[in-house]
Amino acid sequence: MVERTPALETSPLDSQLSRAHLATIAERERALLAPYAQHTLASAGRRHPEPSQDYRGAYQRDRDRIIHSAAFRRLSGKMQVFTGEMGDYHRTRLTHTHEVASIARTVARALRLNEDLVEALALFHDIGHPPFGHAGEDALDECVADEGGFSHNRQAIIIATELERRYTEYPGLNLTQEVLEGQQTRADKQCKGNAPLLEVQLVDCADSMTYDAHDTDDAVKLGWVAIEEMAKLALIRDALQEVRQKYTSLTGDLLRKALVHQLLDRQVRDVLATAGSFLATCGWQSTRDVRESSFRIGPSQEMKEQKAELEKFLYREVYRHPRILSVRTDAQTRLKELWEVYCDRPELLPPHFQGRAERIGVRRAAVDYIAGMTDRFCLQRHQELTRA
Ligand code: MG
Repeated sequence: MVERTPALETSPLDSQLSRAHLATIAERERALLAPYAQHTLASAGRRHPEPSQDYRGAYQRDRDRIIHSAAFRRLSGKMQVFTGEMGDYHRTRLTHTHEVASIARTVARALRLNEDLVEALALFHDIGHPPFGHAGEDALDECVADEGGFSHNRQAIIIATELERRYTEYPGLNLTQEVLEGQQTRADKQCKGNAPLLEVQLVDCADSMTYDAHDTDDAVKLGWVAIEEMAKLALIRDALQEVRQKYTSLTGDLLRKALVHQLLDRQVRDVLATAGSFLATCGWQSTRDVRESSFRIGPSQEMKEQKAELEKFLYREVYRHPRILSVRTDAQTRLKELWEVYCDRPELLPPHFQGRAERIGVRRAAVDYIAGMTDRFCLQRHQELTRA
């Protein structure tokens, strides 16, 4: 099979890039990536053209820009499902993000997709999450319901194009079109257009594999659910059976860890079998074939049903656990109160958000500011401003 090589002359990334470096990237990717992968030199480039570097490709630079952004660092102070008061074992939004990136990269390499792009997309995917997870998202959505609402997926794009301040010439991180488009696909799941790149599809799939496994781990570790209780679910039952074939007498923490390992391994193997067998025989020669196809990287039908059963259980027993519900109610009240304070007194916003309030209105600017807060900072500001 002849693989397509991106034309060096037509790369819109950078006219100043040394031809030797371009040739190195092209050669490396021609050897390692499939023709249906998104090759770096086929990128549509950045909104603001800029010189490239001679030691990193465009998606590597995207990854680094995301890692060095303030919004990314703040993910360490944002809850995934469980709050800091509930313990220090469970995932934060940041460690969840790293697990997604790790799994997505593993699968990308096996499917010969662009790992650099996958990593950038994965590290970026939850960067728009407000404090207090989906509870925070729902509260902010209600605050600006009349003005288009709030979604963490859309917020990631606002962060990357407007809110992060890194360069004097323009706002935002100036990421490549592929990373921004990939996130746009997440923001607009109902959109009926061309299929997303395989790298984008893979990150979505890795997100789901990751949270199904780690939410199980965290909930069992916290003692909110028991492995024995979960053994009635097909996915857990099959994973446990495999664990017990290898280790007959595991109990406690080691059993839980072996189970979580199996949950990830089963899901990864399932996607590799399903997507791998299709991609091995589809004969696709470019990303155009990907875009025009109805194929999507995802679990097999059986795995899809097993995951749905597990997610239904997690929703009922964990995400709607009384302790989570009380955090949810409390967080939503505080977020709305804090938002009202900023709407009434825009002078309390940091100067650059005051400027933003003048441009786009204080209601939306206050939402943008609050969405960037960590859980702790949000509580602190609420306490300071509502007691004053
Ligand atoms: Mg996620």
